Amino acid sequence: MRYISTRGQAPALNFEDVLLAGLATDGGLYVPENLPRFTQEEIASWAGLPYHELAFRVMRPFVTGSIPDADFKKILEETYGVFSHSAVAPLRQLNGNEWVLELFHGPTLAFKDFALQLLGRLLDYVLEKRGERVVIVGATSGDTGSAAIEGCKHCENVDIFILHPHNRVSEVQRRQMTTIFGENIHNIAIEGNFDDCQEMVKASFADQSFLKGTRLVAVNSINWARIMAQIVYYFHAALQLGGPARSVSFSVPTGNFGDIFAGYLARNMGLPINQLIVATNRNDILHRFMSGNQYVKETLHATLSPSMDIMVSSNFERLLFDLHGRNGAAIAGLMDSFKQGGGFSVEQERWTEARKLFDSLAVDDAQTCETIAEVYEQTGELLDPHTAIGVKAARECRRSLDIPMVILGTAHPVKFPDAVEKAGVGKALELPVHLTDLFDRDERCTVLPNDLKAVQAFVSQHGNRGKPL
Ligand SMILES: *Cc1c(COP(=O)(O)O)cnc(C)c1O
Repeated sequence: MRYISTRGQAPALNFEDVLLAGLATDGGLYVPENLPRFTQEEIASWAGLPYHELAFRVMRPFVTGSIPDADFKKILEETYGVFSHSAVAPLRQLNGNEWVLELFHGPTLAFKDFALQLLGRLLDYVLEKRGERVVIVGATSGDTGSAAIEGCKHCENVDIFILHPHNRVSEVQRRQMTTIFGENIHNIAIEGNFDDCQEMVKASFADQSFLKGTRLVAVNSINWARIMAQIVYYFHAALQLGGPARSVSFSVPTGNFGDIFAGYLARNMGLPINQLIVATNRNDILHRFMSGNQYVKETLHATLSPSMDIMVSSNFERLLFDLHGRNGAAIAGLMDSFKQGGGFSVEQERWTEARKLFDSLAVDDAQTCETIAEVYEQTGELLDPHTAIGVKAARECRRSLDIPMVILGTAHPVKFPDAVEKAGVGKALELPVHLTDLFDRDERCTVLPNDLKAVQAFVSQHGNRGKPL
């Protein structure tokens, strides 16, 4: 499989190189040159497969030529073997034909484990073969950091530096990062906000001279491997609910357009999906585009669903590329005007096309709390605030009660006690068994000023398993 850039100017790469790439050299994102397409018979024949075997069938075309089948199977079996629920991604029924796909049974209790547990193992495999080392510098507002550290902690050839805004992540989230020790693991608390952290990561990708020749790898969802891993659970859910003979709808809490883009790809790969609902919080750039053809940056608001607090959706560029007939020059132009003026609209027919593909809703904090309380009352199930946004959007946007509606359950409620408390649900939140002593563990973290040079100096001082690069 070959991968091409959404801006049309960077060289095409194979899977191995895409895994190790951040942004393409032209500033674009990599996408498969040709998407695989499965027949209905083929998909139907996968019913009842264990998760890792289904994952092998869905992802195999993407890694062909880079990873032999037997090795890939082994990697997938290990990856999904660490999940604490034997079904890996179980479905739980909320209401008539309404289901939550529980994606929070991985080590860090959010869906990001599905991709980052795999990414860590893929990196180790590829780097071992090449005899190379890499450095990861990633920014997190909470969930990505811990999932990346858990995914990479055993990697022999990876040193990982995670930047989080000092005193601005929840205690559970911080401890999930800072209590994991290893000479290749470094937590940095930046005296700034999440955007400051992200800017430093971007600047580090743009000029990597501080790495003295070591390669920098991306762990956020611009990395294609993350999107790829997320396609699988759409197939998994649909097969449980009578697909592909029957079509299924999905409601997806999203900020960076990563998870929902994976659903869009699953549909293009042959899975009958009826509705795909984009569910955002108050930071609603995606909803404003879907409902009014305005892709415009606005100020960032802190919400009860912090993992979706973003101003700009990085993966949206991958959809725009398809909407524009895969014309890289057109995307480069749009992104340029976005950078200059902070916004754009697309031509009417392209927007109409997007409207056919997606429904959308923005849900504020009050509605999020109402939904958590309502679902708890109706079913006894406690939702995390991100999942609650998905449920609210599903209920508002649903077009047919005959078609199963699946809401992606993106995190365990124990990660977001504030929202649960504000919802007035009087249920004690308990950490799962593997985290019961989380609040008693030692922490390791370095606080650094909001200064790129200081951060880069720290990375080059410690980037070789704690020693200088
Ligand atoms: C990261 C995250 C999201 C948003 O994911 P996208 O990549 O923006 O689709 C939603 N919910 C939770 C709990 C997350 O951690």
